[in-house]
Amino acid sequence: MGAPYTSDLAAAIAPDLLRRFDRYVRIDTQSARDRTQSPSTPGQLDLARLLVHELTEAGVADAALDENGYVTGSVPGSIGNGRAIGLIAHMDTSPDASGAGVEPIVHADYDGGVIELPVGGTRLDPAAMPELVAKRGHDIVTASGDTLLGADDKAGVAEIVAAVAYLAAHPELPRPELRIAFTPDEEIGEGATLFNIERFGAFCAYTIDGSDVGELQDETFSACEAIATIRGVDVHPGHAAGKLVSALRLAAEVVAELPSDRLTPDTTSGREGFIHPYSLQGTAAEAEIRVIVRDFDEERLAEHLELFERTTRSVVGRAPRATVEVAVHRQYRNMHEYLEPVPFITDAAEVAIIAEGVTPVRTPIRGGTDGSRLSEMGLPTPNIFAGGHEFHSVREWASLQDMAAAAATIVRLAEVWTREEWAGAGSVGAGSAQAAQ
Ligand SMILES: [Zn+2]
Repeated sequence: MGAPYTSDLAAAIAPDLLRRFDRYVRIDTQSARDRTQSPSTPGQLDLARLLVHELTEAGVADAALDENGYVTGSVPGSIGNGRAIGLIAHMDTSPDASGAGVEPIVHADYDGGVIELPVGGTRLDPAAMPELVAKRGHDIVTASGDTLLGADDKAGVAEIVAAVAYLAAHPELPRPELRIAFTPDEEIGEGATLFNIERFGAFCAYTIDGSDVGELQDETFSACEAIATIRGVDVHPGHAAGKLVSALRLAAEVVAELPSDRLTPDTTSGREGFIHPYSLQGTAAEAEIRVIVRDFDEERLAEHLELFERTTRSVVGRAPRATVEVAVHRQYRNMHEYLEPVPFITDAAEVAIIAEGVTPVRTPIRGGTDGSRLSEMGLPTPNIFAGGHEFHSVREWASLQDMAAAAATIVRLAEVWTREEWAGAGSVGAGSAQAAQ
């Protein structure tokens, strides 16, 4: 049975795409939380240097690695309207599963059954993975069972490089000026931090960092982290009667009093937000609760934060000699606010996906992307599918056919931006790169 490519274009790009993907996933680019430099880990620079080399070989004359570990390059346009379109993917992989010694395996012409990986007893069971059921006949790429694959987001990286190489080899194909960026440390929330939007100089951009074929996203969570620090009164427990106030016990009470049948990650879906305590550390003297708070709506996000703070103060208030401080910091903001005034940017991707013969699926992301912060910083950046699944786990897998569809979508997106309707489409206004400081 022939592999079900979405188009001849996707089939033509697939072999080059797979070779690049295979090279990239073997490099350990796992990022590390609480970084002291950018990128957080040296492996990311190994991939960055390889990408500069491959982009240069593909004809990108200005491919370069900057001082913070960002790879950039540009492709001249076949039209000269002074407007560049950005393509972005992240080079790092999640700290949540090992990224060392990744050995990719291609399960050609997938038969629809359970895929047993050679190491660690890891199994991909279609009964537990509805998305796998739909990929019968595809070439499924996995790791070997004890590492993640790194399709998040090396699928996106390989798709951009393969699309750029294809465009370079086919100078007759229309394209606007393209700007490429590969970011470090996205998985630890820092991908946009040192991104130089002004130097990048794009009118808008697309991250290629979504999952299933057809996904197109212009909405992410708005996200905050809150840290409550409780101070008690520590005394020798043998002489503590009437004196000891345990900060640790108060912290546990706070967590117990937060809603558990609603507003949690495991009881919410779709557009519902949550308060998620993800770390509780402490001693009788001092304890710290860390929660992430998420919602698509700014007002509801503020309500969730208020509920956390009120619960914390009320519990600690019952122990008059204890004190509490609550610090809140914003992590990223729903990109929809910035993309809604410029709908033609997301529409261009939708037209490209349809041109590739794929049905667009527009769903909000229960998470963030580099685009969440880039959009807020002045570079409107929706997110396009990359073809991977079960991210951040040893079960991570990707469909070669869906990855090829993403690469072909990039080639088609380039054409869309040369159409009169888009080449001269409205100014991005307050959200434009020019308006960014
Ligand atoms: Zn990603």
